[in-house]
Amino acid sequence: RAKEAGRNQVQFYESAMHARIAERASIEAELRHALARNQLSLVYQPKMDLRSGAVTGMEALLRWQHPTLGAVAPARFIGVAEETGMIVAIGRWVLRMACTQAVAWQQAGLPPLRVAVNLSARQFRDQALPAEVHAALHDSGLDAQYLELELTESLMMENAGEAAQAIAKLKQLGIALSIDDFGTGYSSLAYLKQFPVDYLKIDQSFTRDMLAEPKVAAIVRSVIALGHSLGFKVIAEGVETAAQLDYLRASGCDEMQGFHFSRPLTPDAFADLLRTR
Ligand code: C2E
Ligand code: MG
Ligand code: MG
Ligand code: MG
Repeated sequence: RAKEAGRNQVQFYESAMHARIAERASIEAELRHALARNQLSLVYQPKMDLRSGAVTGMEALLRWQHPTLGAVAPARFIGVAEETGMIVAIGRWVLRMACTQAVAWQQAGLPPLRVAVNLSARQFRDQALPAEVHAALHDSGLDAQYLELELTESLMMENAGEAAQAIAKLKQLGIALSIDDFGTGYSSLAYLKQFPVDYLKIDQSFTRDMLAEPKVAAIVRSVIALGHSLGFKVIAEGVETAAQLDYLRASGCDEMQGFHFSRPLTPDAFADLLRTR
């Protein structure tokens, strides 16, 4: 019996594994056509200044709507896009689309705001990235000060020497840089002093747990102090409740992003949000 139960377990794991492999394969196959078939779009989540309540900018987030798979979350396809290299073409599209959208909002008379774009490791390693960012700004007509790129710690840590050069080149374009998911990656504090970033983004896992766990709260306050003493602004991700917002404001955090203020919005909904405030 025990043996049979063991065998069933193995079969269970094997079939779960096969299902995962099959899902991955279908995502990979479908993702190849997603751009050409206009299945990708961007939504924009506003960032809010914790003192004034003003919208300070927005983060562009990728969405994939597939005719039979439905809405596929980034968590299910960004990794596949990275492993296969498809992220390079997709990322280029995201960058250009976000810049074009930011210009369209400005032309519609909305106050100019900074749009943040997530970069994957693969894109970051691409020697052509600074030239591509430059071209995206030039072709869209977006002033560099209105573009921000979000990098992760792990991405900056691998090949720290080359990363420093790539970051210096990006900064020379006049754009802003932020460190995304701060505190979750593979990092050393030493690298913070050598990278000219503008923002630290406190990962949403810290925001989620800080009111229940004193140690997490201590980390959040320390990151805010660390960021400020290094001259960075600090933004908290994943703020879902008024209590979290109050705590962050009282702790001196500069900005927040999260469902409590707004979910990611379509371009039209974002324009409506700005007009009604
Ligand atoms: P991220 O850059 O850390 O983006 C924040 C994620 O948190 C987004 O998930 C956003 O929808 C979600 N979020 C925002 N507020 C809240 C909240 O209050 N509560 C909770 N639980 N979640 C919140 P999303 O859009 O599913 O994206 C997941 C990740 O996929 C992103 O994490 C980013 O790493 C990656 N990603 C998304 N778009 C792109 C892209 O265009 N390029 C690249 N390379 N990666 C992207
Ligand atoms: Mg991000
Ligand atoms: Mg993040
Ligand atoms: Mg994240």
